[in-house]
Amino acid sequence: MAKILVIDDSRLVAHVAKTILIKQGHEVVLAQDGPTGLAALDESKPDLILLDLIMPGMDGYAVCEKVKNTFETKDIPVIMLTSKAESSDKVRGLELGASDYVTKPFDEGELVARVNTHLRLKELYETLQEKNRQLQELANRDGLTGLFNHRYFQEALSKDFQRAMRYHESLSCVLLDIDFFKKFNDTYGHQTGDVVLKTLGGIIEDSLRDTDLAARYGGEEFALVLYHTPAPAAFMVADRLRQSVENHEFVHEDLVLKVTISVGVATFPHPDIPDHKTLVECADKALYRAKEAGRNQVIAF
Ligand SMILES: [Mg+2]
Repeated sequence: MAKILVIDDSRLVAHVAKTILIKQGHEVVLAQDGPTGLAALDESKPDLILLDLIMPGMDGYAVCEKVKNTFETKDIPVIMLTSKAESSDKVRGLELGASDYVTKPFDEGELVARVNTHLRLKELYETLQEKNRQLQELANRDGLTGLFNHRYFQEALSKDFQRAMRYHESLSCVLLDIDFFKKFNDTYGHQTGDVVLKTLGGIIEDSLRDTDLAARYGGEEFALVLYHTPAPAAFMVADRLRQSVENHEFVHEDLVLKVTISVGVATFPHPDIPDHKTLVECADKALYRAKEAGRNQVIAF
């Protein structure tokens, strides 16, 4: 069951096509010329278009070109309706992006078969697009925590840094690390360690504002990109997160564990920070100082 737009200046042809397609359970919208067809396209969002080539005023080629050059409609299959005499023009239509053609007068079986084939192809194409989108999303994520991964973080930070430079906006990078995680892992085992990482990922996710980005930077290290965030605000975000972690009870089976994090913050603009790599390095230096100073604290570069 699909919605099909038939654009043809001949009432007879349009009527015959409509009758055949309705029998197949499809919904049919008719338009008698190009401009009406394009307006109907916007309004009814059809799954497929049957398009007459020869029409007064705007012809089928012009309509096809417009459909195929418009982002919202370019994936809608177009089947040209051609007379025997126009057969050499089919090539031009195909070059403009039409998927197929049907010769008038219609052979009912042929029209139905071609329409169904292209509806099915469109459906497969959409499924493929969706799968690709899901794969892309997975490729950007860390498998354990569901946060973004290191690679995506670097990409996003690089882009955000360019943007911050161009528009003279502030950008903060937060690096945090679980205190004594190795000792902790050795004592309770890696499974418990994974539960802690995952739970911490959830706490970080919950602490984010709309424009923030969080990633698992590596092992027990996490990174945040805080766009449009000057140093004092970044420090507050980081310290609030540090407190949430300190107050949280990490539960795994019959264990209830307390965890703390050390946090380093660096903010652009800063005279020593010319690029996004240096921004991360400076956050890392601040993190190191937080560790040195006794852990469970936030230090700003
Ligand atoms: Mg015509």
